[in-house]
Amino acid sequence: MRNFLEERIKRDGKVINSDVLKVDSFLNQQVDPELMKLIGEEFKTYFEKKDITKVVTIEASGIAPALMTSIELGVPLVIMKKQQSSTLNDNFFQTQVKSFTKNNLYNLVVSKNFISDDDVILIIDDFLAMGEAVLGAIRIINNTKASVAGVGIVIEKSFQPGRKKLEDQGIDIHSVARIKSLNNNKIIFE
Ligand code: 5GP
Repeated sequence: MRNFLEERIKRDGKVINSDVLKVDSFLNQQVDPELMKLIGEEFKTYFEKKDITKVVTIEASGIAPALMTSIELGVPLVIMKKQQSSTLNDNFFQTQVKSFTKNNLYNLVVSKNFISDDDVILIIDDFLAMGEAVLGAIRIINNTKASVAGVGIVIEKSFQPGRKKLEDQGIDIHSVARIKSLNNNKIIFE
């Protein structure tokens, strides 16, 4: 049986090509708040025993599901920002990330004020493709004494290598929907 998100993807997702799914009517541009609430509840159920102290996401499309998750877990949300060029600033952690959708490099930055050594962090993002965005967030957190308790993904494309790269680092990943293939304009779930 398909879950609530798979039903929605089936109904409103648009296959752009065999690698890219467009979900701008409920996640990336227009946002369905009730759907985000269900996603937040699912991440809470999966991760609640891990004593999470902070949810971290990557702007912009991770923010809606991450905020709902942070409400459910009762912890703050920290948003890592994307910048075009690196800034020399002692007050920020930063790392370079290759963008899947734009095929360029950007700097992922976050103020040192918002990651503490005793934080137990849940990373939330909208899509998992090559894993570069989440790996960038993990590199930043690994520069501190904070720990990564897990990664919550709204839509995983399991035919791309993101999951394998994260599992190789021992990361616990939970995806609400997992897409096995987008070939021939068809969405096939795991
Ligand atoms: P990764 O770093 O895992 O290669 O890609 C993750 C980021 O690329 C996500 O945060 C998301 O913004 C974007 N992305 C990757 N694949 C897709 C896709 O199929 N559709 C959309 N709309 N965004 C994607």
